[in-house]
Amino acid sequence: MKVLVLGGDGYCGWPTALHLSDAGHEVIIVDNFVRRQIDHELGVQSLTPIRPLAERVRAWKEVSGQEIGVEVGDLLDWEFVRGFMRRHRPDAVVHFAEQRAAPYSMIDRAHAVYTQHNNVIGTLNLLFAIRDFAPECHLVKLGTMGEYGTPNIDIEEGFIEIEHNGRKDVLPYPKQPGSFYHLSKVHDSHNIMFACRIWGIRSTDLNQGVVYGTITEQTERDERLINRFDYDEVFGTVLNRFCIQAAIGHPLTVYGRGGQTRGFLDIRDTVRCVELAIDNPPEEGEYRVFNQFTEEFSVRELAEKVVEASAKLGVEARVENLPNPRVEAEEHYYNAKHTKLLDLGLEPHYLSESLLDSLLNIALEHRDRVDVEAIMPRVDWRGNRRDEVTPEP
Ligand code: NAD
Repeated sequence: MKVLVLGGDGYCGWPTALHLSDAGHEVIIVDNFVRRQIDHELGVQSLTPIRPLAERVRAWKEVSGQEIGVEVGDLLDWEFVRGFMRRHRPDAVVHFAEQRAAPYSMIDRAHAVYTQHNNVIGTLNLLFAIRDFAPECHLVKLGTMGEYGTPNIDIEEGFIEIEHNGRKDVLPYPKQPGSFYHLSKVHDSHNIMFACRIWGIRSTDLNQGVVYGTITEQTERDERLINRFDYDEVFGTVLNRFCIQAAIGHPLTVYGRGGQTRGFLDIRDTVRCVELAIDNPPEEGEYRVFNQFTEEFSVRELAEKVVEASAKLGVEARVENLPNPRVEAEEHYYNAKHTKLLDLGLEPHYLSESLLDSLLNIALEHRDRVDVEAIMPRVDWRGNRRDEVTPEP
């Protein structure tokens, strides 16, 4: 199949592009490199030294013999979007190309507006381009488990049967997201569901959990294929952060009581889930939702696992409970369904000691690149920011 990977220079997009190319699909990456720009804005960088996209793609050709196409541009630019959709008329579009850090969206008004504008309008442009130039194509959109929040009932996969005043219906599951970023994903979900209903587009909304790890079977083949590994307070995901904190002797930053429970998955499962969705497309006009995670952990449990794994490597790690910069329940019920991808054949890589070992070793290998200043949380959900990343004029 011909597959466009939007956001293919990012943390999930790059290994997915390689995985799909390896599986025999014709892959074209679309990206505007805004994620690399944001590193400059925040004064941080990936723990791992990532190469420019042109070099990554050349290295992949050398290693695999497979060509990955590249289209550089912004999804907010309608002429660009309609141009690449008209030229390629893909069978599937995998859409990762959004601002994806909750803390970034909570920095201030400008960052909230940027996040929602970038994400919602980018997706809207894409929906119109699919309608006009590739109506048969399957949109695989990355959403997030954070769309649901933490309700006091089981979380279903997208829809819930409700009985009200003696009548029943299957309705979208209620959304209670916890940041302007997560809200942007909810808005996207509504727009996509609507486009499927009125135009007959087919789409899979992958409500992904928090991703950890950095290595996949393909990124390992050459150091020029190395993936991002973010550890800073804004873009670092929690387990990756704990591993570098342990490696440099920084206390593990558990926010509040640490009972916050979420769905998690290994990046090797991210790439496989996307492949499974592509290989099993929905019907014309169908909007379906898969909860894409493999295990649930509380933040406290993850910290304990990292402390144990570090001790086995002779590294002494300790946990520090910080005042929570986020507004979220710190102890709560959490039970989310996630059977649809398993039914399609996902064989999960569960969090293991060997994975923690490998993450800790990557962190130890690159620890000279760690900027300690980037670790402690500064973005505060209540607006009590202690310094400005980019003050508004
Ligand atoms: P990332 O920031 O590393 O990658 C996103 C990529 O999209 C970047 O390369 C960026 O340059 C590009 N991009 C952003 N806006 C664009 C635009 N307007 N035009 C063109 N390119 C644009 O993020 P990631 O961690 O790879 O996440 C990818 C997707 O997966 C996101 O939609 C995110 O919400 C979702 N997701 C990620 C996680 C996670 O733990 N990383 C968890 C759940 C969901």
